[in-house]
Order: sequence, then structure tokens, then C-alpha cells
Amino acid sequence: MLSAPLFVDVRAGAVASLGTLLTDLQIARQGRVAVAVGPSQGDGICEELRIDGAEVLRIPNGTLAAAVELGQRLRAGQFEAIAGIGGGKTIDVAKFAAHMAGIPMVAVTTSLGHDGIASPVSTLRHESGTGSYGVVMPAAVLVDLDRVRSAPAALSTAGIGDAISDLSAVADWELAAAEAGEHIDGLAVAMARSAALVVLHQPGLARDDEFLTVLAESLILSGMAMAVAGSSRPASGGDHEIMHAINQLYPGTASHGELAGVGALFCSYLRQDEAKVELISACLGRHGLPRTPGDLGLSDADFAKAVAYAPRTRPGRYTILEHLDLSEAQLADHVGAYVKTVAG
Ligand SMILES: [Zn+2]
Repeated sequence: MLSAPLFVDVRAGAVASLGTLLTDLQIARQGRVAVAVGPSQGDGICEELRIDGAEVLRIPNGTLAAAVELGQRLRAGQFEAIAGIGGGKTIDVAKFAAHMAGIPMVAVTTSLGHDGIASPVSTLRHESGTGSYGVVMPAAVLVDLDRVRSAPAALSTAGIGDAISDLSAVADWELAAAEAGEHIDGLAVAMARSAALVVLHQPGLARDDEFLTVLAESLILSGMAMAVAGSSRPASGGDHEIMHAINQLYPGTASHGELAGVGALFCSYLRQDEAKVELISACLGRHGLPRTPGDLGLSDADFAKAVAYAPRTRPGRYTILEHLDLSEAQLADHVGAYVKTVAG
């Protein structure tokens, strides 16, 4: 069985329809709605919403502790529903808290940094790193293009990297099916691959409404692919292992989507898939996204070290990295050749 949002709306000004949506879908019959917003969100959003009786709760950060505290407040306040308005962190915290309180959650996305918009996974920071927690799928997903456009440009372009990394993740899944007998879900593969290809081939730049709509739909589809698969498999392979490794070894290097994009390009290179390397490299380059260790501010040796460490970030996931099982010295040679290929 597939759990999917009851309602998906991607357009300019989508946030204004939140109030009617909550009533129409009977998500909150008595109007006991909590609205979770991040620290950067101005008070203006509350006036714009016009939901009578809604209580605004500010989320200090994207930690597990903040999510647990919010979950307790939701239970104590006997809320019927929560709307999370913001970027990735706010949505992740609200999703986890809603799951904990057993109430529906509406995701109102204001940036397109990664594919957690419509996914049953919440990614939160804790004492020793970052954890991914299985949660209930948002009941509705709104993407407000006006707000996406006014968010820093880097946020949306980063989502491009996360979207196209699905192509690499799917290749890893197919490899795991062929080499390790892992079960593969054809519908999840179809959704994840389509999500990546549509962004890869979409002309225009990330500020155009047409491009942003395609990107939003791609990220929603990618999240749905994870819901179909029952795991992050269709959207997270060696590409995301490299991202987690860089985050652990060199915190603060770059965003989720930027690192996923580089990881996908490097994994495609290791697969010797020249056509994909060319396509992904051209797309990342066109949108000004990083492609090489140097673009990330890392040395080639730092990057090789992270790739060697990457399989430890996700034990049990078979990808091109586990398949080739290269030493750090072997990887250093590959990274050198990779940089020459990509940088021309
Ligand atoms: Zn991702």
C-alpha cells in the first residue's frame, strides 16, 4: 500500500490557501492548528495565513531535541494538526513532532534544497551526528513559488544536485539487485529515475518559474519513490554515502544537495558510465553547482579519504563503493583522473 499526500499544490502564492485546505480536507475541524516556523521566518507569514485560532510555534533549530520538544507541546496543547512552514529543517522537525503526537502534518515548502518535501523520512541532528527517522507522510504538500524565488538562490539550485543523484542511486540499486540479490521495486525505480531525468534535461535556469515547478515536482516524486520503496534506497546510494562522509569528516563543507550532486557525478565516473558523467557534469556546471573537490574547498586527498570512509556511514547498503571496495590510495588515483575529466 502506498501512503501519499491527499493534496499537492505547486504554484505562486500557494501558502495563502493553507487555511481553506485544512478545513476542506477536514484535517483540522475545530481549528486547533499549530503553525511551526523557523527562526528566519518573519511574523508576516502568520497574517498572510489567516487561520483563526492557529498558534505559531517557533522552531529554534533542526535537532532531534527540538523535534521531541515540539512533539510534547503538540500533545499537551491537544492540537489537531500541524503545518510546518519553511525549508528543510523546519519541515523535518514538524514531520517528526507530528508523528510523535499522532496528528496530520501539512508541509509548506519555501525552498527546494532537497527531496525531503514529501517523504516519510525526517532527518535531524543529534549529539553524535545526523539521523534519519521514519515518520508518517505529510497529509498535504504546498510549494509556494513566490517564497521559493525569494529564498537565497543557492537553496534551490542545491536541490538540483539532490534530484539528479537519484540517477546514481537507482544505478546502485540495480547493481545491488544483480550482485547481491537485493529486491528491487520497479515503481520506485520508475519514479526516482523520471524525477532525476526531468531535471537533468529541463532547460532554463533555477530562477524561472517553469524550472522551479519542474524541480519541485521532481523532488516530490523522489520523496514518493522512497515511500513506495519503504526506504531511502531509490534516492540514496554511494552519492549520499559520500555526502554523509564529508559531513562527518569536514562539517560545514556544503549543503545536502551540493554534496549529493558531486557524489552522484563521482559515482557515475567510478561506474565508467561516460554518457551519464557528461550529462550530470553539464547540468551541475550549467547551474553553477560544485563538481570537483576543489569546488567544495577540499583537496583531492581529503575527498579520497571521505570516499574511502563513505561505506561506513551506511552499513548494509550495497553501492558502487562497496562493490569496487577501493583503498584510499586507489581512490586518490581515481580522484586525480576524475578531476581531469570533469574540469576538462
Ligand atoms: Zn538527498
